[in-house]
Amino acid sequence: MDLSKTYDVLVIGGGNAALCAAIAAREAGASVLLAEHAPKAFRGGNSRHTRNLRAMHDAPTSVLTGAYTEEEYWDDLARVTGGKTDQRLARLAIRGSGALGTWMEARGVRFQPSLRGTLSLSRTNAFFLGGGKALMNAYYRRAEQLGVNILYDTEVLSLPLQQGSQQGSHQGSHQGPVREANLTCRGFPASVQAKAVVAASGGFQANIEWLKQYWGDAAENFLIRGTPYAQGRILKNLLDQGVAPVGDPTQFHAVAIDARAPRFDGGIVTRLDCIPFGIVVNRDGKRIYDEGQDVWPKRYAIWGRLVAQQPGQIAYSIADAKSETLFMPSVYPAMRANSIGELAVELGLDAAALEATVKAFNAAVRPGAFDSESLDNCTTAGIDPPKSHWARAIDTPPYFGYPLRPGITFTYLGVRVNEKAQVLLENGDPVGNLYAAGEIMAGNILGKGYLAGLGMTIGSVFGRIAGREAAQHAHH
Ligand SMILES: Cc1cc2nc3c(=O)[nH]c(=O)nc-3n(C[C@H](O)[C@H](O)[C@H](O)COP(=O)(O)OP(=O)(O)OC[C@H]3O[C@@H](n4cnc5c(N)ncnc54)[C@H](O)[C@@H]3O)c2cc1C
Repeated sequence: MDLSKTYDVLVIGGGNAALCAAIAAREAGASVLLAEHAPKAFRGGNSRHTRNLRAMHDAPTSVLTGAYTEEEYWDDLARVTGGKTDQRLARLAIRGSGALGTWMEARGVRFQPSLRGTLSLSRTNAFFLGGGKALMNAYYRRAEQLGVNILYDTEVLSLPLQQGSQQGSHQGSHQGPVREANLTCRGFPASVQAKAVVAASGGFQANIEWLKQYWGDAAENFLIRGTPYAQGRILKNLLDQGVAPVGDPTQFHAVAIDARAPRFDGGIVTRLDCIPFGIVVNRDGKRIYDEGQDVWPKRYAIWGRLVAQQPGQIAYSIADAKSETLFMPSVYPAMRANSIGELAVELGLDAAALEATVKAFNAAVRPGAFDSESLDNCTTAGIDPPKSHWARAIDTPPYFGYPLRPGITFTYLGVRVNEKAQVLLENGDPVGNLYAAGEIMAGNILGKGYLAGLGMTIGSVFGRIAGREAAQHAHH
């Protein structure tokens, strides 16, 4: 590959946002170089772990039921973010989501209807046939056919913002544009020139040292659900040069996952959905929070953080035979025993402490009509923390348990952008030829909370915008 020539567009990253940008730029006539830090076998970032994206539609489609209007989508987003969202950019993403299905199918992506266990999303979220890996393979195939130049094993280290004049800027007080990128390509240092650059390099959730700045040594016990290549190097480099930040740097989205998951890349199969059907104790055998507070997806996101706050960043979900078939298990088998004391030993907990906790919990359970599908009336009384729903005595062997750790999905810190996906400086000026898409700018829209399927929607819509705008800039 010729690294001495000047490309129209350099795309940094190899996940969904990067591929959407690269394809859009190439289809707009630009020469494109895509630099992916991961080797080919691990290409695709967190995007390869995904299953669906959230799309608005006014009538049923081949895979989506009913209608999901712009207003309902916006209401959902406003609720989960508590107003921490840029409405113009959010509505751009929502409106853009309506056209994604057709655009993606024309580029080789296939969809499937929701399957059992995901039916609650059948109206709002379109599922990728074969999951995120098949999606990424389809995009890479398309990019190769179009003639996008792809460099694997290539980490972009820095994007120096030049000091110079730029239309619309305050003379002397600004930075930009970007002329070159410094990188290591299969271990060798290099630099590459481009007329426009798209930063689509994800969040910094795999950078444990960075997480330690906010979480201290606890971060050593966090498991990262996705790619180890999400180091946030470009994010940091841009913020260090005066690019405007967006999103709370200390916050991340985390869920409770099986503690036996690998440090990185465990993906979706390590998630545990059993929490509402039993109790959760910390390493001292003590309950920590109301396990029956609410239904998925609300409960899904709070437990990662709760486990992160426990001593040793570990907790244990305990239940009995009555609940065994009510949830999607993790890829690891549950620990089982015929008594609570034996289960405690299996899990490495103090038997007397766990027996006392289960005994107190069972005594607090009030009679009710159990219904795993709704917020039922099975509750506890006289115990702290309470269990608001699905409270049933843990009394039917075999008993089972799973160890839990915080599984970090993504970080919220990003770079501020405008409607053209141009990266903005702290003074509000665009850098000019620098665009951003995906997780690195998702904090503009999702400043807090989570809405299932929104990450891929933001990456797809803004990836397309960034690619198109970058190509247009290069042609001028
Ligand atoms: C287990 C799991 C399941 C998920 N499921 C869903 C789902 O079903 N729906 C949904 O909407 N969201 C889901 N998400 C969130 C979703 O993965 C992200 O929102 C989305 O993938 C972000 O896309 P991206 O392209 O911005 O980042 P990524 O896909 O993470 O890609 C970032 C890319 O940048 C590369 N990179 C990083 N730094 C550099 C550098 N300096 N130089 C070169 N390359 C670099 C990385 O190697 C990687 O290829 C899930 C996340 C996880 C972890």
